[in-house]
Amino acid sequence: MRLQIVGCRLQIGHLALALVILVLLGGTALAPVARAQPTLREFTLGLSGQGRPIQVVQVGDGPRKLVVVGDTHGGPEANTYRLTLQLIDHFRASPEAVPPGVRLYLIPTINPDGLEIGTRFDGVGVDLNRNMNTDLDTCAENDWSPTVQGARGIVSDTGGPYPDSQTEVRLIRAFLLDASGAIFIHSNAGLVFPAFCEHAPSITMAQAYAAGAGYEYSRYWPSYNITGGMNDWAGSLGIAAITPELVTGDDSEYAQNLAGLQAVLSQAEDTLPTPDAGAVDGVAVPATIYRYWRALGGRERFGPPLAPARDDSGGITQAFANAVIELRDDQADTPYYVQPAPLGRAAAESLAFGGRVALAPGDPAGAPLFFAQTGHGIKEAFLDFWQRGGGVDVFGLPISEEFTGRAADGGMRVMQYFERAVFAYYPEDGGVRLEPLGARAQMLESLALPLAPQTVR
Ligand SMILES: [Zn+2]
Repeated sequence: MRLQIVGCRLQIGHLALALVILVLLGGTALAPVARAQPTLREFTLGLSGQGRPIQVVQVGDGPRKLVVVGDTHGGPEANTYRLTLQLIDHFRASPEAVPPGVRLYLIPTINPDGLEIGTRFDGVGVDLNRNMNTDLDTCAENDWSPTVQGARGIVSDTGGPYPDSQTEVRLIRAFLLDASGAIFIHSNAGLVFPAFCEHAPSITMAQAYAAGAGYEYSRYWPSYNITGGMNDWAGSLGIAAITPELVTGDDSEYAQNLAGLQAVLSQAEDTLPTPDAGAVDGVAVPATIYRYWRALGGRERFGPPLAPARDDSGGITQAFANAVIELRDDQADTPYYVQPAPLGRAAAESLAFGGRVALAPGDPAGAPLFFAQTGHGIKEAFLDFWQRGGGVDVFGLPISEEFTGRAADGGMRVMQYFERAVFAYYPEDGGVRLEPLGARAQMLESLALPLAPQTVR
């Protein structure tokens, strides 16, 4: 308590000092105003599959987020890792080289396991640049596939078990949701190409980068069909996305790529489009929430929006049929920036679907995936759905066992409570669906509102 009082006095002292400074500054209003030193910070985006940190350096604070991703392909493309480190050194020394409208993020490697092991793949043999959910665009040729094409006609099963299965891919997916542009640096084909499906900002950015770097621009990757590529995934969400391929496999080609990046930065208004808001059934959806909704399963997973988005203190929330999706400002640049609200807890506590017995702790041996934190496990169809759908970040941990309860459609179904969702099994088609927690939240909120005063005529 005493410390708090001291702190409070200190703040008042600071406030007074700030006022004095403001008054003094007021007298020199005609002096030229220098740009404040741009933000310079380093942080860990998350851990790789084998637990290595994925580092990020941010330079600048402008509204347009540009992300440079080095070394997706590990050891064989380590020159792109060295290049990104050199770019970081440059912008650390000259942060003012990032225009005020841009904030630049540099990731030296999104595949630290492959870099360490000396392989193109991640730690379990998946090609991270073939693992993304590229089924969101209108081009079928680039859709995710477990079997991928490679150089010299080599075909391999390196696309992963399902789209977005790899932890590194999920990290970059979350990190790019509010991005204007993304540059995925590879080697060594010596050309720059934009997202496969028609996307004008990606084409503009690729041409700008190629011209600046002195690399060849190519509308398409000429060698074979790329499925599940990061480039195409980003483009499908409206992010300007390009892949520069260095000419060699050993030189970092620093001067060329610095010039390419500077060309993109100097035309930020054209190369880095402001993310577009969406509209679903005539309801506007803010850009970042719209991208999340699309990338994580869209209407089939979350249902349509039920109401316009709402500005809350510290973020935005919007109710969809099956979830209230929240964007929290204090979680920007983390994997938790956009998430479904933890409505499953309240539903379990009020036994919204029944299942009191299922809230008692489960048997650790009764499920292949068991969480000691909550005392519950996940198995069979629910486990498959939970893993494919984004796991703990999307649905949270299980907070009950499976139980038979009354689903919102009136049927008795096998169900399970999670922190951010309630799963129900549909034997009709073998599918798992989310119960309409967003609609339930809307309904409870309308009941809690005072009745509108009647108009007196
Ligand atoms: Zn590559």
